[in-house]
Amino acid sequence: MRNLLDISKCAKFSPSFTNWECDYYSPAEDKAMEVIHGQCGFCKLPNSYLCVADITRPIPLSHSSAGDFCTCHYLYMLKKILGIQVRPPFLNSMIKAGKLWDIIRQKSLGGDVSIKDTISEYEIDPYIVSKVRAIYHAYKEFGLGVDPGYELQAPVNLTYDIHVPASSFIPSIDIGKDAVNLWADRSAGETREWIFPLHLTGFYDLKYANFFGEDKLSGRPEMYLDPFFIQSQNGTYFLADPSLEYCIQHVVLFPQQREKKRIEESPDEIYKRVFDDVISKPSKYFLGLNKEKARYGKKLYRTEFDLKSLELRYIQIAIEILAARWTGNFYKNWKVCNNVLPGISCDFQSICQTGKISETMYSIRGKE
Ligand code: SF4
Ligand code: SF4
Repeated sequence: MRNLLDISKCAKFSPSFTNWECDYYSPAEDKAMEVIHGQCGFCKLPNSYLCVADITRPIPLSHSSAGDFCTCHYLYMLKKILGIQVRPPFLNSMIKAGKLWDIIRQKSLGGDVSIKDTISEYEIDPYIVSKVRAIYHAYKEFGLGVDPGYELQAPVNLTYDIHVPASSFIPSIDIGKDAVNLWADRSAGETREWIFPLHLTGFYDLKYANFFGEDKLSGRPEMYLDPFFIQSQNGTYFLADPSLEYCIQHVVLFPQQREKKRIEESPDEIYKRVFDDVISKPSKYFLGLNKEKARYGKKLYRTEFDLKSLELRYIQIAIEILAARWTGNFYKNWKVCNNVLPGISCDFQSICQTGKISETMYSIRGKE
């Protein structure tokens, strides 16, 4: 395991006599505190996350980190390698509304979560709280619920062995002679083949024996009802568990309103207006509502997702992330700065615009 760090990538490299190369290097560990040898390690220095010089061992992928990489390589680097995260009060208001709805739903289904703590931690605007409360009270009024037998927030834990054949593009890299030997060891035999594990992680909102349920609150609910637009998240969940035959998208419309009206109304008035509107037009808010069965949502079948393409996409993304780590060139995609999700700007604009990381707005993820 020696000589795997590319010290040209880090000015703070400090040679060590241990097998971990740098005094500040901390290997990745599993929940039982066993070292995961094939996974990129962490940096122990303050305000650091992953070791930026550890550029050969894979970083686990999730559908959202793969999505970040596709959206903007620099965004991926900020979040996944430097571990920068937006402090909850500075998140986009639509994200906060979605988070509150998620917590309210989890609480109503028996989850050990606190609605009050979430409102306080995220500093959620009273206008947003009023709207989400109004929707939830209407949800209760119609007696809506989900089928019993679910597991809340079940983890997605999937590992693929990615086989990169001899004909694939692999940049040559010089990280000291042992690193070259390591790859040679891995490709022992006549044909050169690289194999590395790709870990997919995440959570199912609701998981059953043969299907799963996803909760969404959105100003554009149609985005979550068409398999074409949710290939990445839902397709990943299908990939992770072959026994899953279908999913149910529990999608709720989050009412948008014009700024002028918002200023004129108090939170209580907003609550009343939204509640009355949901009660009078429930199908507009709870997509796929079946009042008799007290259920809502749209069923999408496994066969509606292109899982082969998704798997090939992950393989290519894993290779491209490795290539970007080798070159250090996580280039910016300025085209998406104002639209990283439909209608949502990138939360990292201030970093890209000023080159500075405000400690008020951002924090570094815990190393786990
Ligand atoms: S990122 Fe940290 S652990 Fe990695 S080489 Fe630099 S100082 Fe060492
Ligand atoms: S602000 Fe733009 S360039 Fe910067 S990380 Fe976000 S999407 Fe990428």
